[in-house]
Amino acid sequence: EDLTTDVVVIGAGGAGMAAAVEAASAGKSVVIVEKMPIVGGNTNRATGGINAAETKYQEAAGIKDTIQTFYDDTMKGGKNLNDPQLLRILVENSAEAVDWLNDLGAGLTRVTLSGGATNPRIHTPEDGSPVGPVVVKVLSQKLESLGVKILMETTAKTILTKDGAAVGIEAEDASGNKFTISAKAVIMAAGGFGANSKMVESFRPDLVGFSTTNHAGATGDGITMAQSVGADLTDIDQIQIHPTTDPESGYMFTEGLRGDGAILINAEGKRFTDELLTRDVVSANILAQTDGIAYLVTNAEMKEENASLAGYVKKGYAVECASAADIATLLGTDAATVEATLKTYGEAVKSGTDAEFGRTHLTQTLENGPYFILKVTPSIHHTMGGLKIDTEARVIGTDGQVIKGLYAAGEVTGGVHGGNRIGGNAVTDIIVFGRIAGQTAAADMK
Ligand code: ADP
Repeated sequence: EDLTTDVVVIGAGGAGMAAAVEAASAGKSVVIVEKMPIVGGNTNRATGGINAAETKYQEAAGIKDTIQTFYDDTMKGGKNLNDPQLLRILVENSAEAVDWLNDLGAGLTRVTLSGGATNPRIHTPEDGSPVGPVVVKVLSQKLESLGVKILMETTAKTILTKDGAAVGIEAEDASGNKFTISAKAVIMAAGGFGANSKMVESFRPDLVGFSTTNHAGATGDGITMAQSVGADLTDIDQIQIHPTTDPESGYMFTEGLRGDGAILINAEGKRFTDELLTRDVVSANILAQTDGIAYLVTNAEMKEENASLAGYVKKGYAVECASAADIATLLGTDAATVEATLKTYGEAVKSGTDAEFGRTHLTQTLENGPYFILKVTPSIHHTMGGLKIDTEARVIGTDGQVIKGLYAAGEVTGGVHGGNRIGGNAVTDIIVFGRIAGQTAAADMK
C-alpha cells in the first residue's frame, strides 16, 4: 500500500536510526525501510567503540587529548585523502555524540587506546564489550518511544524524483509487492558494499577472493540507487581490509585486543610488526607472512579484563595453550622461538621500549599462561568511498549541485575517512552525520 510521510529513511543501521531519531524529534513523520529481517546492519558488528576527543570521560580518567589531535590522527591514518571539512565536523561533534548516546542509555564510559590514535579516545561499554549492539539497542528503543515505524524486509528499489528533487522511493516488501513512499525528504543510509564481491572487484581488481566481515545486506544498493538520480561519488576505490579476522568465517576480532595488550606472531613464532599501526599497514604486514596468516596472542589476565576476548573464547575461536611450548606446537614451530619472542616482548614492556618494532603502548608482559591464541587473516571490512555529501549531509550531484530532498549518512557516503578508516571512527561517523542528516532534512522542509 502506498504511503506518504515527511521523511523516508533507507536502512535501519546506526546512521539511518540516528537520522530518524532527529527528524522525528523535530516533529516530522518518519518511515524507515530495512531490507533485512533484523535492524542494525554492519553497526551490529561494530566491535570496538566510538572515538571522541575532549569528552568528560577522558577528563575523568586524566587523559589529555584534543580535537585537533583527533583530526590530525584521522587525517594521517586516512592518508590525507579525507575531506577536511567533513572531518572537521566529525571531530568537533564527537564528544557530543558520546553524550547523546549515553543520554539514551548506552553507557559508553570506558576509554582505551586503539590503532592509529595518539591518545586513548575509544569509548566502549564499561566491561569492554562491543559497542555496536548497544548503539543499535538504544536507538531502536528511542525510535519505539518516538513511534517511528520500521518496515522490515522492505527493500528500497529506486529514488523517485520530480524536477530533479527526491520526492520518495519505490519499495518492495517481503512478498515482492511494490509500493511507493512519497516524502519531502529521502535519507540514504543503506551502508557500504563490502559484502558485494562483484562491486568490490569492479573498483579494486586486486581484492579478488577476500572474505568479508560485513553483514549480507552490505551490497551497495544505496550507491547505485543514488547514482541513478545523479549523485556523485568520492574515493570509491578506497576499501579497507581489517587485519584480524577468522580465516574461515571472516569473523572479526576487535582492534581493542591489541590495544589491551595482545601481540601478533607469525607461523614461525616471531613478532613482525608494531601491532598498533593503522589497519592498512598491519593488514599488509600480516599478508607478507607465511600463508598471509598470523596469530593473536592473549592470555587469561587479558580475558579477565576484556569481555570481547571472553566472548571469542566462549564461541570457540581461541585455542587455549598452557605455555609457550604449547603455542609452538599449535603453530608447528619450535618452542625456543616462541619462548624467546615472549621473553623479549616481556622485557620491552618492563623497560617501556620495544626496540624491535617501536610499539609505544606497552601494557602487559604476556609472561603468564594460560594463553588464548586466535588465528587471523585480513578481510574486507569497510568501504570508505561512497556518495559525496556536504557538511550538512546533503547529497552532491555530478554537476556539483545539491540534489534537493536527498540526504545521506554513514558508510554509504565517502570522504570522512579518506584512504583508511581509523578503528572507532565508524560509530562516530554514523552518529554525527546520521544526526545531521535528520536535522537538515527536517530544517530544509521547515
Ligand atoms: P551504517 O553504519 O552506515 O549505518 P549499516 O550497515 O549499519 O550502515 O546499516 C545499513 C542498513 O541498510 C542495513 O541494515 C542494510 O540491511 C540496510 N539496507 C541496505 N540496502 C537497503 C535497501 N535497498 N533497502 C532497505 N534497506 C537497505
